[in-house]
Amino acid sequence: MLKGKTALITGGSRGIGKAIALAMGAQGANVALFYAGNEKAARETCESVKKLGVEAECWQCDVSDFEASGKSVKEVLSRFGNIDILVNNAGITRDNLILTMKKEEFDEVVDTNLKGSFYMIKHMCGPFMKQKRGTIINIASVSGMMGNAGQANYSSAKAGVIGLTKSVARELAPRGITCNAIAPGFIVTDMTDKMQDAAKESVVAMIPLKKMGRPEDIANTAVFLASENAAYITGEIIKVDGGIYI
Ligand code: NAP
Repeated sequence: MLKGKTALITGGSRGIGKAIALAMGAQGANVALFYAGNEKAARETCESVKKLGVEAECWQCDVSDFEASGKSVKEVLSRFGNIDILVNNAGITRDNLILTMKKEEFDEVVDTNLKGSFYMIKHMCGPFMKQKRGTIINIASVSGMMGNAGQANYSSAKAGVIGLTKSVARELAPRGITCNAIAPGFIVTDMTDKMQDAAKESVVAMIPLKKMGRPEDIANTAVFLASENAAYITGEIIKVDGGIYI
């Protein structure tokens, strides 16, 4: 389905990004991964993707650093020739109640989740416009749609990602570039592993499908959005959340 394409996936070392890398690799895409600091996990993911018969390489790249991400994007372009799919998946949480949330906790989350996505789109829109095609997939969150106590920073950042998605979709559509977002609900990864068991149980009780999602649930949607089957979809936010925000 994605044979001959190259996908650049931020935060591809673990969790949802890793599942997207494997799913896109399984569909024939070459994969470039950005990770923050977990080199071992990134290399392992690369090796697993290569076993699918495609090319894969990883870059240590902090997406909240504009200069660093610009440099890494250039390196990916010279290594793979071109990039067809950009997945802005890198994300962090710094949960805290608003009363005790530090300014740094707000800034860090916005810098990585929202500004990081903007920076990557900035770096890639030139190459995408030149080749007159490109697919951008942003990983948002239902927290950005419904809000979540303890996540004022994260909900704000993800709501921003949704606004970014819609504006970029409108702006780049005439150039043959699509931009969509996936809004996951609660997915089993290191990010949600930090939650207390009691908190997890109360979340699951709120989910109509009565279970947390798997990284593969998000990856399958990302593969669809990157495929020709989704060629006429842009500016869309697809919730993959077990119904928690119906
Ligand atoms: P995760 O397991 O914690 O993995 C986070 C990934 O992002 C890792 O690959 C990490 O790299 C990378 N990363 C973090 N900060 C980075 C930075 N500044 N620059 C580059 N890479 C960075 O998280 P996840 O659950 O898979 O989440 C992936 C995305 O889905 C995030 O955007 C998250 O907000 C979103 N999401 C997750 C859930 C959920 O329930 N899990 C729900 C809604 C939305 P290292 O391995 O090097 O640290």
